[in-house]
Amino acid sequence: MSSIYPWQINGLGRLTQALEQERLPHAVLLLAKYGSGERQFVQHWSQVLLCEKRIESEPCRQCKSCLLFNNNTHPDFIWIETEEGKKQISIQQVRDLSEKLTETSHQAGWRMVVIYQAERLTVNGYNALLKTLEEPGRKTHIVLVAADKSSIPATIISRCQQVSVDVNRRKQALDWLLSSGGENSKELCEAALSINHYVPLKAQHFLEQGGMAQLEEFLKLLIAVAEGKEPLTAIGKMIGNDVGTYWSLWEYIVTALIKQQSLVENSQLLYHKELSKLAGMMNMQLLFKFRDELLYQNKQFLDGVTLNIPMQVDFVADAWVKSRAR
Ligand SMILES: [Zn+2]
Repeated sequence: MSSIYPWQINGLGRLTQALEQERLPHAVLLLAKYGSGERQFVQHWSQVLLCEKRIESEPCRQCKSCLLFNNNTHPDFIWIETEEGKKQISIQQVRDLSEKLTETSHQAGWRMVVIYQAERLTVNGYNALLKTLEEPGRKTHIVLVAADKSSIPATIISRCQQVSVDVNRRKQALDWLLSSGGENSKELCEAALSINHYVPLKAQHFLEQGGMAQLEEFLKLLIAVAEGKEPLTAIGKMIGNDVGTYWSLWEYIVTALIKQQSLVENSQLLYHKELSKLAGMMNMQLLFKFRDELLYQNKQFLDGVTLNIPMQVDFVADAWVKSRAR
């Protein structure tokens, strides 16, 4: 059984074909949203490349190389990512890599290097990497994994072949989520995907962790605050430090409110009654502004530049209350 996801099959096929035709590039920029199974994919591809007796795009799982790989002790497999407690991949990690690559491979086969979350390299790190990308040595394959190439310097991009293993069809994500266990309805799965920006594994985790109940609870609180039945501070209390989850829930709610027309037409929509009620209490013009603010604050949070989470929550909650119709 293959351990990759349906949206990754084409990417794996491309890489395997290039390997078979002996035109595998030195460096690949692998584009995939984090949470789309990208770790498993790179692990799988690495094992395929290193395997001595691969069967098309599957490793044999029995050769010496496969055994070493499964044991996490393959000497020609190098995985680089931010070290614990750090926010960036250090230049020292890149220098250590270049140093290692000057040695010959241990197993006489391929050497595989993965730089996971390549957007976390520093400017100096990128510069140090350039030379390695140009001359990595014989039978060396470097995979840079990134969610979004806009944060990767053009000098790096131009030295890599790009391969996308992202979910590019929403239906594919929905089909997978529906078939991947659980008794969730199509409506629930669609909502979970939308909240989680169509990253299927995140949506699955969200459902498993009771995310929909959280959504309902939050929606009810927003109504109570808008009605003046709960104080504004109750929002901050519920969110606590879990802004990662709540900013997404809030974004989903606001987007549903803004699409009021579909609220009117689609009475089958999840939480239709609550959303309609809330829509009636808000000012649409101001809601657009609020959504922009929310997206901005969420980006700040995801980029790790939010300094004070409780302050950010208070700020957003305040902007929300100011978006009420008066
Ligand atoms: Zn093998």
